[in-house]
Amino acid sequence: MDCIPPVLSLVFFSFICQGHLTGYQSNEVNLLDSKASQELGWISSPSHGWEEISGVDENYTPIRTFQVCNVMEYSQNNWLRTNWIPRNSAQKIYVELKFTLRDCNSIPLVLGTCKETFNLYYMEADEDQGDMFWEHQFTKIDTIAADESFTQMDLGDRILKLNTEVREVGPTTQKGFYLAFQDVGACVALVSVRVFFKKCPFTVRNLATFPDTVPTDSQALVEVRGSCVNNSKEEDPPRMYCSTEGEWLVPIGKCLCNTGYEVQGVSCQACRAGFYKSSPGNLRCSKCPPHSHTQQQGSDHCSCEKDYFRSAEDPASMACTRPPSAPRNVISVINETSVILDWSWPVDMGGRKDVTFTVVCKRCLPGQRQCEACRGAVRFLPRRTGLRNTTVTVADLLAHTNYTFEIEAVNGVSSLVPTHRQFAAVTITTNQAAPSSVAVIRKDRTSQNSIALSWLEPERPNGIILDYEVKFYEKQEQETSYTILRAKGTNVTLNGLKPDTTYLLQIRARTAAGYGASSPKFEFETSPDSFSISRESSQVVLIAISSAVAVILSVAVAYLLLGRFCSYSKSKHPDEKRLHFGNGHLRLPGIKTYVDPHTYEDPSQAIHEFARELDASCIAIDKVVGAGEFGEVCSGRLKQPSKKETSVAIKTLKAGYTEAQRRDFLSEASIMGQFDHPNIIRLEGVVTRSKPVMIVTEYMENGSLDSFLRKHDGQFTMIQLVGMLRGIAAGMKYLSDMGYVHRDLAARNILVNSNLVCKVSDFGLSRVLEDDPEAAYTTRGGKIPIRWTAPEAIGYRKFTSASDVWSYGIVLWEVMSYGERPYWEMSNQDVIKAVDEGYRLPPPMACPAALYQLMLDCWQKDRNNRPKFEQIVSILDKLIRNPSSLKIIANTPSSPHSPENLLLGWSTSDIATFHSMGDWLDSTRTLPCKDTFSGIGYSSCSTLPKTSAEDVKQVGVTIIGPQKNIVSSLTELETHTKNDPVPV
Ligand code: AMP
Repeated sequence: MDCIPPVLSLVFFSFICQGHLTGYQSNEVNLLDSKASQELGWISSPSHGWEEISGVDENYTPIRTFQVCNVMEYSQNNWLRTNWIPRNSAQKIYVELKFTLRDCNSIPLVLGTCKETFNLYYMEADEDQGDMFWEHQFTKIDTIAADESFTQMDLGDRILKLNTEVREVGPTTQKGFYLAFQDVGACVALVSVRVFFKKCPFTVRNLATFPDTVPTDSQALVEVRGSCVNNSKEEDPPRMYCSTEGEWLVPIGKCLCNTGYEVQGVSCQACRAGFYKSSPGNLRCSKCPPHSHTQQQGSDHCSCEKDYFRSAEDPASMACTRPPSAPRNVISVINETSVILDWSWPVDMGGRKDVTFTVVCKRCLPGQRQCEACRGAVRFLPRRTGLRNTTVTVADLLAHTNYTFEIEAVNGVSSLVPTHRQFAAVTITTNQAAPSSVAVIRKDRTSQNSIALSWLEPERPNGIILDYEVKFYEKQEQETSYTILRAKGTNVTLNGLKPDTTYLLQIRARTAAGYGASSPKFEFETSPDSFSISRESSQVVLIAISSAVAVILSVAVAYLLLGRFCSYSKSKHPDEKRLHFGNGHLRLPGIKTYVDPHTYEDPSQAIHEFARELDASCIAIDKVVGAGEFGEVCSGRLKQPSKKETSVAIKTLKAGYTEAQRRDFLSEASIMGQFDHPNIIRLEGVVTRSKPVMIVTEYMENGSLDSFLRKHDGQFTMIQLVGMLRGIAAGMKYLSDMGYVHRDLAARNILVNSNLVCKVSDFGLSRVLEDDPEAAYTTRGGKIPIRWTAPEAIGYRKFTSASDVWSYGIVLWEVMSYGERPYWEMSNQDVIKAVDEGYRLPPPMACPAALYQLMLDCWQKDRNNRPKFEQIVSILDKLIRNPSSLKIIANTPSSPHSPENLLLGWSTSDIATFHSMGDWLDSTRTLPCKDTFSGIGYSSCSTLPKTSAEDVKQVGVTIIGPQKNIVSSLTELETHTKNDPVPV
C-alpha cells in the first residue's frame, strides 16, 4: 500500500499546468472558481475519501485541490460536494474540471478494484442548504474519464498529464445548485473546478453600443438593439444577435457622427477649430475652404471672411467668393441703328466661374444731363441679361440718338451685395436707319399684260428715299425666277406679264442707309384673254416662237463662241433698270475655256467680267481663320438681297498695297470666277469699289486638307478617303478640260467642307507659287513646290495638265498617309536627284495596292504615259463601286520614315511605258501576281524581263512557279500563271 503514492504531490503541477490553467475567454462569467479561493469548505463524505490539500499553480499562486486514491480497498463510494452555487441570470451553465488520473495498470498489486473514472452530479436548490448532504438527491451529469492517465514511470519522469473536461449543467430552474464528485475507487486529483456561463460582452459596433447580454438556454439568437454613441445618430437602427455561445452575430444598421463631429476609433469627436463637417456621416472634418474660418470646435460650416460671401446654392466645401470687378475695354461698333458692344472679361472674377453680364440701356436726350431707361422695342441679341459671352448686339434703337450702355459683371454672390455694382459704361450716338417697310400697296389698274400699282411711303423713312425695289414673280414658279424693277416714285406699271396669271410682289425702299425691310407679299392677277387663239393660229404662233427661239439660240451660241464665257454679263449691272435672274446658266458643253486674265489689257476689266461686285454691307465678318499672302482670311456671312444668308470665306487685301499687288490679288478671283464645279472653290464675288478689297468665296468648314487629315489621323474609312480623292480628281478634270493648269496642286491647297467634300483652291498666276511657302527657287529661276512638281516642270518649266497629274499623285500619297510630308525631311535637292534617278515614294501604311499603283502611274517619268484626270476619276469610281478591290494592301517597307528605306526597291528607272500592265495581268487572270507586282511598282511589261529573279523573290512572288520563268519572258509568265492553281 505504501508503495502507491497516496498523494499526488502538487509540486508536479508546476510542470504540467503551464499554459493550461491560465485564463478563460472574456465572454465567460464565472459562478465558481476553486482556484480563486483558499478556503473552499467543500464537504467530503466519508471523511477518509476526498482529501483537500494545498498547492501552488504554475505562477506559484496557492490553490486548493482535492484528491482520492483508495485503489487498494474495495467498495469505494467517496463523495465531495461543493458549496451552494447561485445561478444568477445564467440559463446555460458549464462545469470545467481539471484533473489528473492514475493508470490502474501502472499500480502494482491492485486487487481489481481500481477505477479510472469518477462521476459528476448536481442538485438544484433555491438556497444554501448548509452542511446537509443527501447523496440520493443528486442527479448524475456524466461519468468523467481521463483522456490522459499517468503511470509510475511518468511520475518518475516527473510528467503529470492534466485532463480538462467541460460539461453542461441543467437545464436549471432553481436559484442555485450544488455539484458533487463521486469516486468509486480511482486514483484522481481534482486540480480545479470552474463553473461559468457565457455572455455576449459589451461592445461597440458601427458607432452603436451593445450591452452585456446573456444568451437564452434555447438555441435561439437574442436580438439586441444598440444605442448610438455620443454625438452620433441612427441612420439605420443598429441591431445585433447574441448567440448561445456568447458571440455577437450579424450586425445590422449603423449610426453616423453628427455634423461637426468625426469618427475617431469607436466614438465621434468634435472637429477642431479651423475644421468643419457639414453633413452627418463617418467622414473626417475638412479644413475651412479659402476665405472662410471657424474658431469653435464642432463646427458644421465655416463663416466667410469680411467682403466674401457664399450663395445659397454654394456647397459648404466651396471657397467664399465675392462679386466680380467691372468689365473692361468696352468698344462699340455702330451700324445704323444697331450697335455691337464688345468688352473684356473682368480682371477679378471674384473666384467664381458663373460670371455673366447684364446690359443696361439708357437713352440720353440732347441737352439733358439725366438719361432715362430705354423704352420701346430695343432688341438685345442674344439677350440683355445673363450674357455668357463678352458681346451683345443692340438693335432697333432710334436713329440719331445718344445712348449709354452700362455693362455690369455679375456672379452668384452679386445679389448678396446689392450696393456693389461693378459696370463699365459706353456712350454712343446712332446713325441713320434704314427705312421701315412699305405697308400698303394699292392696285390701280390691271390688264392682260400689265398692272399699275402704287403705295405709301414707309412710316419711318429715316432719310431720303432714293428708290424702291419692286420684285415680282409668277406664283407657281415659287421664286425660282423673278424680276426686279426699280422705281423712283411710289408707283410702277409692270408690263410684259402673262394674261390670266397670278403674280406675287414685294416692295422695299432704299435710302443712303440701305434697304428697308421688304413689304409683305402682295398677290395679284392679270386679266384673262379676251379672245381665244384658233388651233391653226396657235400653231403659227408656235412656229413663229420656235423660229425665234432657234434664232436666239444660234445668236447665243455664236456669242459664246466668239465672246467666250461670261458669267455675270454686263447686262447684269446693278444700275440697270430691269434685271432677270434665273437659276442655272446657259452653258453649252465643251466650248467653255479658261481665259487668262493677264491677256486683258485692263485687269479690272477681267475682274468685272468674271466676278460679281458685292456690296460690302452685305458681308459680315465673324473671325479670322487663316492668313494669306495679301492679308487675312476671315469667315463670315453673305446676305445678298433676296437670297438666303450663306457662310463665306473672305480674303482681304491688307492696307498699303501697290497696284500690282491689287491686280495679283484680284487675279485669283478673275480665275476662280470662271469656274463652276462642285469640286472647285466657288467665288461669291469681290468687293473692289470700297475698301478693304475683298474676295468672297464659299466657306469650307474643315479648312485645308493637309491639316484636316493630320488632325484626324486614321479616322476615315477607305471609301471616305477615296471619295475625297475622287472629288479632287473631278475638280482637276474640270480644270484641265477648261485648259487651266493649276501648278500648285497639293493637299494644303485643297479645302474641305463639313460634308468632307474636297474642293481645289488657290488659283493664281505666278503669285500663287510666290505665295506658297513650299515653293523654292530653282536653278532656272522661279519658285516651284519641288516635292509636288513633275520633273519636267522643275527642269524646264513644262507645266501642263500632265504635270498637274504628277502633283495629284503626290496628293494621293498625302491623303493615304494622312498628311505626311512627301519625302519627309529629305532636302529639295535630294528629292530632285532621287526622283530623277527613278525612285518613287513608297506606299503609305495600309495603302490599297490599286491606289499605290495609281500613284506610280501618275509619277511616270514620261508625262504622256501618265493617266489623264478623266481616267483617274473613272479608276476611282470603279474602286468606290467595288470596295473589295481596296482590300489588297500594297507592301509597305518596314520603316518607311527614312530616306534610306524610301529608296529601297521602289525604282522604276528604265521602266518603259506599259500603262495597262494591270489590265494585261487582269486579262491573264493572275490576280495574285498582279497584286504582288503592284508592290514593286510595275508599270511596264517590258521591265519584267529585266527584273532579276532576286527582285521577284523579294516581293514574294513564290506562288507562281519557277521564278526564273516569270522573269524570262512575258509569254512564259502568262503560261505559268494560267497553269498554276492560283485562286482568281
Ligand atoms: P490661302 O491664302 O487661300 O492659302 O488661304 C489661307 C488659309 O485660309 C487656308 O489655309 C485656309 O485655312 C483658310 N481658307 C482659305 N480659304 C478658305 C475657305 N474658302 N474656307 C475656309 N477656310 C479658308
